[in-house]
Amino acid sequence: MDRRIKRLLRLVGFLILFSTYMVSTFSYAKQTKLIKVGYFDYSGFIEKDADGSFTGYGVEYLKELSKYTSWEYEYVYGSWSECLERLKNGEIDLLCTAQYTKERDELYDYCEYSSGLEYAVLYASQQNDEIYYKDYEALNGKKVGMMENSFQNEQFHEFQKKHGLELQPIYFKTTFEMEEALKSGLVDVIVSGSLLASPEIKLIDKIGVKPFYFITDEGNTVLMKQLNAGMKELLLEIPDFNTVLYEKYYGSPVGILQGRTKAEAEFIEENKTLRVSYAKNCYPMEYQDSKTKQARGIFPDLVRKIAEYAGFELEFVVASSPSEALRMVGLGEVDLSTVFYGNVSGGKAYGICYSNIYTVDEIAVIARRDSNVEEREELTIAVPNGYTNYVMYLQENYPNWEIENYRDIDHCMEAVDLGKADITLVDALYLQTASNTSFRKSLVVVSGMEVEMPVSLAMQQNSEKELCTILNKAVLMINEQDLKEIRINNTTVNTSNFQLLKWLRQHLGLISVFIGFWAVITFIALQRKELYYRRLAMIDELTGVWNRTHFLKEAEEILNYNKNQEYYMISTDIDKFKYINDTFGYNMGDEVLKEEARQFAEIFGTRGIFARIIADEFVGLIECSESENEKDLMENLKTFESNMRNYAKHYFRIQIKIGIYKIEKRENNIRITECIDRANIAKKHIKGNLNQMISYFDEETAKRSALENEIEGKMEKALENGEFCVYYQPKYNLRTEKIEGAEALVRWIEPDKGMIGPNLFIPLFEKNGFIIRLDFYVYETVCKHLKQWIKEGKPLVPISLNVSRAHLGTPNFIPDLVALLKKYEIPVELIELELKESVFSENEEVVEKMVVLLKNIGFRITIDDFGSGYSSLNLLKQIPVDVLKIDKGLLDEIENSKKSKIIIEQVVNMAKKLNIYTVCEGVETQQEEEFLKEIQCNAAQGDLYSTPISVDEFETKISGQEF
Ligand code: C2E
Ligand code: CA
Ligand code: CA
Repeated sequence: MDRRIKRLLRLVGFLILFSTYMVSTFSYAKQTKLIKVGYFDYSGFIEKDADGSFTGYGVEYLKELSKYTSWEYEYVYGSWSECLERLKNGEIDLLCTAQYTKERDELYDYCEYSSGLEYAVLYASQQNDEIYYKDYEALNGKKVGMMENSFQNEQFHEFQKKHGLELQPIYFKTTFEMEEALKSGLVDVIVSGSLLASPEIKLIDKIGVKPFYFITDEGNTVLMKQLNAGMKELLLEIPDFNTVLYEKYYGSPVGILQGRTKAEAEFIEENKTLRVSYAKNCYPMEYQDSKTKQARGIFPDLVRKIAEYAGFELEFVVASSPSEALRMVGLGEVDLSTVFYGNVSGGKAYGICYSNIYTVDEIAVIARRDSNVEEREELTIAVPNGYTNYVMYLQENYPNWEIENYRDIDHCMEAVDLGKADITLVDALYLQTASNTSFRKSLVVVSGMEVEMPVSLAMQQNSEKELCTILNKAVLMINEQDLKEIRINNTTVNTSNFQLLKWLRQHLGLISVFIGFWAVITFIALQRKELYYRRLAMIDELTGVWNRTHFLKEAEEILNYNKNQEYYMISTDIDKFKYINDTFGYNMGDEVLKEEARQFAEIFGTRGIFARIIADEFVGLIECSESENEKDLMENLKTFESNMRNYAKHYFRIQIKIGIYKIEKRENNIRITECIDRANIAKKHIKGNLNQMISYFDEETAKRSALENEIEGKMEKALENGEFCVYYQPKYNLRTEKIEGAEALVRWIEPDKGMIGPNLFIPLFEKNGFIIRLDFYVYETVCKHLKQWIKEGKPLVPISLNVSRAHLGTPNFIPDLVALLKKYEIPVELIELELKESVFSENEEVVEKMVVLLKNIGFRITIDDFGSGYSSLNLLKQIPVDVLKIDKGLLDEIENSKKSKIIIEQVVNMAKKLNIYTVCEGVETQQEEEFLKEIQCNAAQGDLYSTPISVDEFETKISGQEF
C-alpha cells in the first residue's frame, strides 16, 4: 500500500478515536447531575454515619441507579412532612419511600417502577408483657401511635374494623417522636412500616402491604424520564434487586414479620437455655474444635443464629456421630439436635419431630473417572458409619440406591476407588477444606448429580408445641446474608480477609467510580479465587495437609488457648527416603508422602494437627488426654509406623523415624519452634536400630544434645589449637609376642575437661561432616611421626588409620591421602586402613571399588569390628581385604558361650584359607590370649598388652623392644 494512504488511514483512525473520546467525555459531563434527595428518620433507609457518609437501603439503591442515570446526590434532612413540603416547593428533587395515594398523586409524580415493598405493621415495646402477637383481646382499648398523613393509617382503620377493635389514636409528626412515645409508655402500640423493625420493638400484627416509589415534584418531566429509564434498566439487569436489598438491610421479610404469642414468650422466659447435640467429627459442617472444645462448623453457627433470632441461649453437647446426636434428642438428654434430614422413617426411629428447613446441605457425588454413573439407575453407594439418618433420607428419596457402610469418608472413597461401590457422597464444602486429604486422582465429582439434603433441627416428638413454633419462626429469619457469611467463615480459617471483602462489597459503588470496570472484574475474580488462594497459602499442595507456616500459627494458638492441657509434639521422617525417590522415582516418593498424610489423619483424626515441613519431614501436635495417654500414643504411633511399613512392602520397606517431645502444662509458654526442635533432637538420637524407631526427648537426650551443641561450638577452635592428639595402641604378634603394628586413635585434650574419648564426639562428627577434616588431621599427624622416626632411624611398624564412613562419598579421599604420603615421603607399606564392617554392608558396591583402588596403590585393608553386626561371610569372598579384625564383643562372650568360641575359631580358620590375616582386638585376659593362640589367630590388640598411649610412651615402648 502507498505510504501516504497508510499515513492518511492512520490519521483518520486517530481522529475517529479522538472524537469518540471527546463525545463520550462530553456527554458524560453533560449528564452528570446533582440530585437533592430528602431523607428523614427511618432506620436503615438513609442514615448519616458518624463520618458524614450515608448508608442504607435507599443509599445503595440510589448508587446503583446512578450507574444508569449518572446522578450524584446531596441528602437533605427533614421530617416526613417537611420533606413532602420541600419537594412540592422544588427545594429538593427526589423522595424515596412514597406509597401511592390519590391525594399525593395530584401533588407529585410517581416513578413507574416500585423501589420496594413495605408492610404496615403494629409494634409494641419489647418490654410490654401485656400485649403479644395476634392477641386482639389485650389490644382493645389501648393507645395507638400513628404518623400524621401516613397512608398506613387507612390500613389501620380497616384492620380495626376487621377484628372489631377500637384503639385510642395519638398522632405524631416524626417517627422519632412516635418511637420515643412508645418507649416511655405514652402509647401502647404504634402503626408503622416494617422497615422500622429493631430489637427494642416487637411485632403485634401485620396490617397491610404496599409498594413504595421514588417521587418528584409534579411536572418535572425531565427528571422523571431519566428516573423511569434508569429504573427500567436497573431492574432488567438485577430483577430481584428490591428483595436482595431488603434482606440485606432488614432481614428476610418472612423473618421480620414474625411475632411472638404470649405462650411463646413465656416458653422462652422459662427455657432460656437449650441444650443442643451435634456430631463431633463432620468437618466442616459440624465438629468439635480441638483447641477450644467448642462446637464449630456451619450447622452450629446457623443454629446459633436461629437461637439468637428466637431469643434462646445455647449449650452445645458433643456426640460421637450424627446418629448419636439424634439419639440424644429422642431420649430427652438434650432439647435439640443440629441436623435432621427430614424423612418419615427417621422421625419414627428416633422419636423426634423436626423444624422448618434452615439450610440445604449440598452433597457432591463422587465416582470413579469414566464410570458413567449418571446414566445408571441402580447404584451402590458407600456411606460412613454413624450416618443412619442420612441413609434413611437417601432410602426414602433414592429407593434404587443400595447402601453400604464403611468406616469413614476416606474408606468410602477408597471403596469407590477399588470398585466396591459406585459412588460416595461428600459434602461439597468438605471438598474445599484443609482436612480433605483423601481425594484420589482416580475419582471425580460427578457434575449435575448433586444431592440436596434439606437440613432441619430435631426436637423430641413430645416436646412442647411452642418450642417448635418459636424455632420455626426463627428459622424463617435466616437470610441469604447469614448463610453466606457462615459458609465463608467455616470454609476458611482467617476471617479478616472476609471482613475486607465485606467492606469492599459495601463500598463497591464508590470504588467503581474510581477504578470503574477494572475493579469490578478484579473483585469478582478475587471472590472466586479467594478460597483457592487461601487454601494455597496454608496447604501443602502435594499432601493436602497444612504447610509449615500454617501449622506454626495453629499450633501456637492451640497452646495459647489451652494452658492446662498437655500435648505431644512429634516429628517424623522416613529413613532413607532418598533411596525410594532415587530407585522408584519421584512419583512413588510422592505417593508415600501422601499415604503418610492420610495415615496420620486416619489414626489421629481431630485429636491432632499435622503438617509437612519439608521433603519427607512431617510434624504433628497431638493432644495428651485420658484417651490419648502415653501408652495410647505409643500404640497409635506403632500402628502408624507399621501401616506405613506395609504400604509398599512388596517393593521396599518404609521405616518411619519418630521423635516425640511432651509439652508439659507448666511450659505452655514454650515456643512452638522450640518444641519442634526438641522432637527433632529426639528423632536424631534414634540410632539405626530397627526395633527402636520412636524416641522421646527426655533428660538424657537433653543433656546429650546440650553436650553435642557444646562440642559443635568448640570443635573448630580445638582443631586449630591442636587439642586433638593421636594415641597409639600397639598390636602384638601372638607367635613372636612382639609389637608388629599399632592403631592410631584420636583423643581430645580439652583444657577445662581433660581427655575426652572419641565415642563422645566421633558419631557427632560423622553426622556433621567434621570427621573428614579431623581424620586428615590424624593422618597428617601420623605421617609427621613416621617421618620423624624414619629420620631418626627408629624402629618402624605399620600404623593403622581409621577411615570413617563419611569419606565414602568424597572423591577426594584417595588423592588427598596419597598426596599426604608423598608430602612426608612415607612408604605406603607403613599404612594400614581400617574400615568398619558396618560400612561394608551399607554400600557394598562403592566400598568394593574404593577398596580395590586402595589396594592397587598398595595399602593394606582391614575390616574393623568384624562380627559386631550382621557380618556376612560373603563379604570376605567379594572384597579383597587383607586383615580381619575380630570385634571385642565376640571375645567378651567366650567365657560364657561355647558358640562364640566356635564362631571365632571358624572365622580364623576360614580367614586363613582365604589368606587373610587375623587380629583380635580388646584382649584383656590371659585366658583370652591363650584361646587365641590355640586357634592360631595371628595378632592381638588390647589392654592386656597396652592401652592406647601417647606418642612419647609409644616411642619408648617400641625402642625398648628387640626386633
Ligand atoms: P575402634 O576402631 O574399634 O578402636 C578400638 C577401640 O577399642 C578404642 O577405643 C580402644 O581404646 C578400645 N580398646 C582397645 N583395647 C581395649 C580393651 O582391652 N578393652 C576395651 N574395653 N577397649 C579397648 P577408642 O580409642 O575410645 O575409640 C573408639 C572408636 O572411635 C574407635 O573404635 C573408632 O571407631 C573411633 N576412632 C578413634 N579414633 C579415630 C580416628 O582417628 N578416626 C576415626 N574415623 N575414628 C576414630
Ligand atoms: Ca579401628
Ligand atoms: Ca574395632
